[in-house]
Amino acid sequence: MNKRILVITCPPPAGASPAFTAAWMRRQQANATGRCECGAVIKMPNRAQRRAAKACGEPARATMLHEADCPASDAALRELYLAGLN
Ligand SMILES: [Zn+2]
Repeated sequence: MNKRILVITCPPPAGASPAFTAAWMRRQQANATGRCECGAVIKMPNRAQRRAAKACGEPARATMLHEADCPASDAALRELYLAGLN
C-alpha cells in the first residue's frame, strides 16, 4: 500500500539572522530528504501511531532526532531565533 507524505516547507522569517537562516535551510533539507547532515534519519510513525492519529482526525507525524550539537535541532533553532530578536 502506498502512503502519502506531506512535507511542509516555507522560507525563514523575514529579517532572520544568517545563522538562523542557515540552520532553517538545513532543517528543511533534512525534512525533504529524510536525512540530516548530523546523521539523523527520519522515523516514520508505526501502525499504532498512524491509527491513533487517524482516530483523532490528525495526520501521523514522523520524527527526526538530531544530534545535540546540530543547528537544525529544535533547541538550536529556538536558541538562534531568540538570539536574533535581541
Ligand atoms: Zn541534524
